[in-house]
Amino acid sequence: MIEYPDRIPLAQTPTPIQRLLRTEKRSGPELWVKRDDLTGIELSGNKIRKLEFLFAEAKSEGADTVITCGGEQSNHCRATALAATRLGLKSVVVLRTADPQSPPPTTGNILLDRLAGAEIVWISRADWARRAEILAREADRVRGDGGVPYVIPEGGSNAVGLWGYVGCAEELDFQLKALRPCARTTILYACGSGGTGAGLIVGAAMLGWRERGIAVCGINVCDDRDYFVTRIGEICNEAHQRFAIPAITEDDIDIIDGFVGRGYAISRPEELSTLRDLARTESLILDPVYTGKAYFGMTETLSRDPERFGDRVVFLCSGGIFGLFPQAAELAALL
Ligand SMILES: *Cc1c(COP(=O)(O)O)cnc(C)c1O
Repeated sequence: MIEYPDRIPLAQTPTPIQRLLRTEKRSGPELWVKRDDLTGIELSGNKIRKLEFLFAEAKSEGADTVITCGGEQSNHCRATALAATRLGLKSVVVLRTADPQSPPPTTGNILLDRLAGAEIVWISRADWARRAEILAREADRVRGDGGVPYVIPEGGSNAVGLWGYVGCAEELDFQLKALRPCARTTILYACGSGGTGAGLIVGAAMLGWRERGIAVCGINVCDDRDYFVTRIGEICNEAHQRFAIPAITEDDIDIIDGFVGRGYAISRPEELSTLRDLARTESLILDPVYTGKAYFGMTETLSRDPERFGDRVVFLCSGGIFGLFPQAAELAALL
């Protein structure tokens, strides 16, 4: 059994795995999904697993306000705002948008941020480069008002948040053991800020997955492969320094690049039609920003190299359904 740092239960876990029998090809691997979109309704998605550990640390430090940041339709900010409310804390979410003077419409995750009562601070894309400074400024402001802030980095991706996906790896370990044995399995995930990948990779090392033919592979939805090999390495290293966990090397970090497409949170028609087709064959709803891109990347990779992922793929459905609604017009054109 893995020993975890303190956590506050927030996520509905374990999440089920489910086979995509109507989508599998005779010549290809078994296709499974790990339904981390089912970690909650309002808390849906991968971020809430990380937040269980981050909020435990926030509470232990006596925080009364959490501060975090992300893109305008950030799933992470929405989960943070709603979890904060559930635990009786206030939240400040710093959201990146094209023009902070005219913020985007209150839909999707923004609507939920506002329902949760989060304070929203709009910043420009240029300001995003100095987000650490802006988060520190917001923390000072909270302190100035007599509060106790706790700052969570984008995506909840740090040495503490990483434990959420160590936990998911351990769940998957039990679930895989119950399946027909196979030589080679790949756990595939959408990579956006690196914390999910870091957790799965550390979990894999703790559970001896490499020796058992289980690989972990990310498909990046922004930046590039080099960026994530470095970033995931940093998160793992920070965790290695702080907790008794195995050291991770670049060799352990497998990222497939080439599927960012037109850019973060911008969809190509082929990505959206893949999303539509999966909804129509499996009633599985992907999101346009993360899982839709990664799933498209998986199908393209498999069509070029059917052996790439071995005999079985478990695709992490990491949530994001609320990100569909702001893209409704683009999707409607394909329906
Ligand atoms: C944030 C997010 C990801 C990416 O996870 P990271 O830990 O940030 O790499 C994937 N899918 C969804 C739906 C997300 O919201």
